[in-house]
Amino acid sequence: MSAPVVILGAGAAGLMAAIAAARAGAPTLLLEKTKRFGYKILISGHGRCNLTNAEGDVKQLIANYPGGGKFLHSVFSQFDNHDFIRFIEGLGLPTKTDARGRVYPETDRSLDVVEAFEHELDRLGIRLRLEAPGARIVTEEGRAVGIELASGEVVRAGALVITVGGQSFPNTGSTGDGYRMAQETGHTLVTPFPALVPLKSPGLGELAGVSLRDVEVTAVVDGKPAAKRRADMMFAHFGMTGPAVLHLSRKASLALSQGKSVEFWLDLAPDRTREELDADLRQAWEQTPRTHLNNALKDWLPERLVPFFLKKAAITGDRPVSEIPKRERSKLVDVLKRAVFPIPSVLSKEVAEVTAGGLDLKELDPRTLASKRIPNLFWAGEVLDVDGYIGGYNFQSAWSTGWVAGLSAARSLGYDLRGDGESS
Ligand SMILES: Cc1cc2nc3c(=O)[nH]c(=O)nc-3n(C[C@H](O)[C@H](O)[C@H](O)COP(=O)(O)OP(=O)(O)OC[C@H]3O[C@@H](n4cnc5c(N)ncnc54)[C@H](O)[C@@H]3O)c2cc1C
Repeated sequence: MSAPVVILGAGAAGLMAAIAAARAGAPTLLLEKTKRFGYKILISGHGRCNLTNAEGDVKQLIANYPGGGKFLHSVFSQFDNHDFIRFIEGLGLPTKTDARGRVYPETDRSLDVVEAFEHELDRLGIRLRLEAPGARIVTEEGRAVGIELASGEVVRAGALVITVGGQSFPNTGSTGDGYRMAQETGHTLVTPFPALVPLKSPGLGELAGVSLRDVEVTAVVDGKPAAKRRADMMFAHFGMTGPAVLHLSRKASLALSQGKSVEFWLDLAPDRTREELDADLRQAWEQTPRTHLNNALKDWLPERLVPFFLKKAAITGDRPVSEIPKRERSKLVDVLKRAVFPIPSVLSKEVAEVTAGGLDLKELDPRTLASKRIPNLFWAGEVLDVDGYIGGYNFQSAWSTGWVAGLSAARSLGYDLRGDGESS
């Protein structure tokens, strides 16, 4: 038998690469460092696995990748979110889509996703070796010819696909090995940094656990508003998190890594202008003049936020609202429309949902994901300088790049799919 397509790393991208190569008819070997495969799939989406996002066409899909979006055009033209939904349903896993386009297994169980992949690996006769950590890409005369395992054993490859992931949640096995391998083989690394990561902000301990619904959050870099997001957010003992914050966290993380200053502004009344909010407060207070400000504000804020916001506005709350002068009401409006939170840092890469940065995309052929530096070597998944927003986009780039890299590797050895998606 000819040397197989060897895929290093059995996560989302590696599983797809293996299935694409094997469906094309190539002998396929999948090597995984840990005792189990697809561990990140298992823990994803709080055990539900947000598989992808069903909204829109390729153009809209690309708009959800602040890292590497344009590069993905060719990849998504070959295998997009709709192809993935057909693919996974074809493995016998029905899906459902929520109002925001997020796609989940109908059963809400990520374990079912992993099992669907497992059955397909078996059906296609893909060899899977667990506890086989790759240590080094082996090259001969400048070509990739295999992978040396940590044990010293060299596994020969007809074509080699690297899908070892990024650096977040290292207990899943993704410890950034691919970044080292990229550099050792002469590739350029765009410095990895955490994205989809909670933010640190001092002095918020007393607010831990308070959630805000549908607020407008603005990321401000070096004093200038850089991006906005309207969604829910949550305070935590270390700072802030939740959908709006995570969406903007990449901007903060990158700016901080470049030595810039970052603050987040919160608008708690995004549907009202300053003047409208001021008028609404005045009217409400005229109807209940004896209510103390502390209590009156509970109609506008979660109770635990009231003392915090009064302190920010430097106003005493233990007074009837009829005694609050216009000047103080105006200060309150200021903080409700723009509460400023300094962001000195983000949490570490290890607890981020995804690692941005990675293998420089300029060094890959966007149609095949083959390295332009080392023949016979393909890359896919989070190890690339690609990252998406929450909503299923990170898995989608892993599924799509995995599919394209695996199929391209098989094609480089003369194998290909038939019209029905199996080998010719
Ligand atoms: C808690 C959490 C929840 C998430 N939820 C979602 C979600 O719901 N939806 C979404 O779209 N995205 C989600 N993500 C992001 C998503 O999981 C990743 O972007 C995606 O898994 C990346 O796929 P990958 O195959 O490139 O890497 P990984 O899934 O990280 O897989 C890499 C594999 O390679 C193996 N490996 C590493 N080094 C070696 C080596 N030297 N030799 C052999 N094998 C090696 C690892 O053990 C691992 O099995 C979540 C991430 C986290 C951390």
